[in-house]
Amino acid sequence: MLISERAIHEEHRNSVNDRITPSAAPAINDSTIQLQALVTRRTDQPAQVGCFQCGQAHPLMLDAGSSGRDTMEEMTIATRTTITARILDGIAIAGEIKAEVAVEVQQLAARGITPGLAVILVGDVPASQIYVRSKVKTCGELGIFSEMLTPPDTITTDEMLALVEDLNARADIDGILIQLPLPKHVDTKRLLEAVSPEKDVDGFHPVNVGRLQSGQPGLAPCTPAGIMEILRRSGLPVAGQNAVVVGRSDIVGKPAAMLLLNASATVTVCHSKTVDLAKFTRQADLLVAAIGRPGFVTADMVKPGATLIDVGINRLTDAVEVEKFFSGDAARAATFAKRGSVVVGDIHPAAFALAGAYTPVPGGVGALTIAMLMQNTVTAAKLRRGISSPQKPEKN
Ligand code: NAP
Repeated sequence: MLISERAIHEEHRNSVNDRITPSAAPAINDSTIQLQALVTRRTDQPAQVGCFQCGQAHPLMLDAGSSGRDTMEEMTIATRTTITARILDGIAIAGEIKAEVAVEVQQLAARGITPGLAVILVGDVPASQIYVRSKVKTCGELGIFSEMLTPPDTITTDEMLALVEDLNARADIDGILIQLPLPKHVDTKRLLEAVSPEKDVDGFHPVNVGRLQSGQPGLAPCTPAGIMEILRRSGLPVAGQNAVVVGRSDIVGKPAAMLLLNASATVTVCHSKTVDLAKFTRQADLLVAAIGRPGFVTADMVKPGATLIDVGINRLTDAVEVEKFFSGDAARAATFAKRGSVVVGDIHPAAFALAGAYTPVPGGVGALTIAMLMQNTVTAAKLRRGISSPQKPEKN
């Protein structure tokens, strides 16, 4: 049987290329696409191939010798082809956002306002220290005042509450960030609720959670807000898309689902108790993975052509694991040899080859978090003073 494969794949390419805006960072992945096709051959209608890439049926051109009998057969066409999986460059998008924030900071400076961020870092957690240092550094670069408070890990909940109260009352502080995790003896929930909602630049306070749910202006959690910026600035559709979020944490999964819903996606939230997870992920036009398990979403769980947003940050230190995820990837092997670890997301790298667009790890969603923190700090400074921000299109 001869099938007009070229025509089908030309159409795949077009359907993906249509989604590329001039600012996009395209990357060519030479990959083998498995087109699972349900073929109907009937004498009274042309045979068709159901395409999982664009969701439409394409006519099949059969050779003259094929039988005209009524048959239905499942067939897999494995063909060598080139698709363009678009890399959503989080670093470039974060750069755009930071540049815009710097302009806003200048405009506020002209009115005598300097946005201020206070960061509380408890104890000596090396990873937290790295995060906090880069937050403080970025504040400096953008003209935002920052102050770091570093109490010892023996601090009590009451002492922390007093610190937060003091920052709530200060006029020069617009944003308060409590770096998590906190020592076990400190009541994290109580502290997060003690931060004034107007200064809650992490968007964790129940008041801001409620505002997000009811679509009111407020401060949304940075990582999910970053996901929405990636989609918006890349011109990727959200409204009407089947969005599946794997993970329901208060920090990522739930707010990401709410933001997608607010942007008119049809949202499904999955979690560790979801039965037959792949059944849901395979239907996703837009898949957000926020699980915390290396390469958990495999290629067979992904709909070809989908947008894959990988929130996961998982460090691999075992050479066998690195080989499992990055076999043949010389750049990762070099990083592993140099640093003794590499980072992998919650989506298996092999799945990216099937995507229409995807966020790499590193360099995807993670790059947005600090930029969104900066934006939230400026937004908080404006909201507190009744200065309105330019409206962004909420729905696309
Ligand atoms: P989390 O609080 O541990 O939540 C993980 C979620 O994944 C939970 O809702 C859990 O379901 C679900 N899950 C776990 N195993 C599952 C399974 N087998 N099948 C389906 N769902 C499963 O983690 P998180 O804070 O949301 O973070 C998730 C990932 O994102 C981590 O890798 C983290 O490092 C990363 N992260 C990145 C950024 C960034 O800036 N890029 C920011 C925050 C987090 P249950 O609720 O049923 O337990």
